[in-house]
Amino acid sequence: MSWQERISAALDQRRAADALRVRAVVDNGAGRFLTRDNRRYCNFSSNDYLGLSRHPAIVRAWQQGAERYGVGSGGSGHVSGYTTAHQQLEEQLADWLGYPRALLFISGFAANQAVITALTDKEDKIVADRLSHASLLEAADLSAARLRRFHHNDVSHLQTLLATPCAGQQLVVTEGIFSMDGDGAPLGAIAEAARQQQAWLMVDDAHGIGVTGEQGRGSIAVHNVKPDLLIVTFGKGVGVSGAAVLCSEPVADYLLQFARHLIYSTSMPPAQAAALQASLAIIRSDEGDARRQRLGEHIRRFRRGTGEFSGALGESDSAIQPLIVGENARALALAQRLREEGIWVTAMRPPTVPPGTARLRLTLTAAHEAQDIDRLLEVLYAAGQ
Ligand SMILES: *Cc1c(COP(=O)(O)O)cnc(C)c1O
Repeated sequence: MSWQERISAALDQRRAADALRVRAVVDNGAGRFLTRDNRRYCNFSSNDYLGLSRHPAIVRAWQQGAERYGVGSGGSGHVSGYTTAHQQLEEQLADWLGYPRALLFISGFAANQAVITALTDKEDKIVADRLSHASLLEAADLSAARLRRFHHNDVSHLQTLLATPCAGQQLVVTEGIFSMDGDGAPLGAIAEAARQQQAWLMVDDAHGIGVTGEQGRGSIAVHNVKPDLLIVTFGKGVGVSGAAVLCSEPVADYLLQFARHLIYSTSMPPAQAAALQASLAIIRSDEGDARRQRLGEHIRRFRRGTGEFSGALGESDSAIQPLIVGENARALALAQRLREEGIWVTAMRPPTVPPGTARLRLTLTAAHEAQDIDRLLEVLYAAGQ
């Protein structure tokens, strides 16, 4: 097959399965409303769970940071791109989450790739929840280590896989709150299973950080655990972009030597680090509590209101509320129907989710009003008729 034929065949296959991904150009896609082509939709598809992406204090911090530092960092952190803004943010993160060190990364995807490939070796075994994010599973797959997947949230299966012989070290990988299902991992039991086998635990809390737990410390606060490696990302509840790895002193020093995504990549703009400090201050404050509480009220309101279609919902009590539809074409049609009613949701299809479980991934945020939740329910009922 020529290059051209190979590419066309792959695209045709996606099209035939109603699985072709296309991007919608929007004027604004975070916050309560999504605007597009002069039309305003109530937005139930953004990960801006606390509604912080347009927060005036955070926007101002970014502007002031740009005036002070310029818009680009000018290089990798190993050369000249590690400013006082980066350093302060790392210290604040470490203090907030109770770790000796934090290291900033440009994205959660890069952080996961960097940590997994830098840490693991040929003799090692990575045991990951099978519903882990693509950035984790792909890194594990590409790494020299052997990858075994345990059934979703199934601690006894995890124990079985950890008990098989391994010449090297074992790394257990899971998420705090799962991105497509919105359910949480049983982190206490998972941490215990890892400890019994002297395995290290890596938790990616992309969807929990800022949003749950005391002071917004996320899933580790909810479950009272301290994973050896904690990944937090800033593009979701934190409302900005970027990520950090929380770890011990020696692991941080090791990653500074061997994490290629850190060494050979431009660090985040210092102004972004300044904006992140402002976001963190809000998340830790009474205002953060108020936003988390408001989000919690919306989640309860939504789940109470689902009544007869609650069977199609997952077990989630988080901001992520998946409505499982099954077939790709049905999920697309339902998303389209909602759009016609002024509600923006996204149909998630395989391979992002397992085959036959195409869904509307509804996300609720603190930026919504109670009436938005009621309207969503009303439209879902009407579409279900
Ligand atoms: C979104 C997400 C990531 C990727 O983070 P980015 O900062 O958007 O690259 C990693 N892990 C999980 C679980 C995610 O949901």
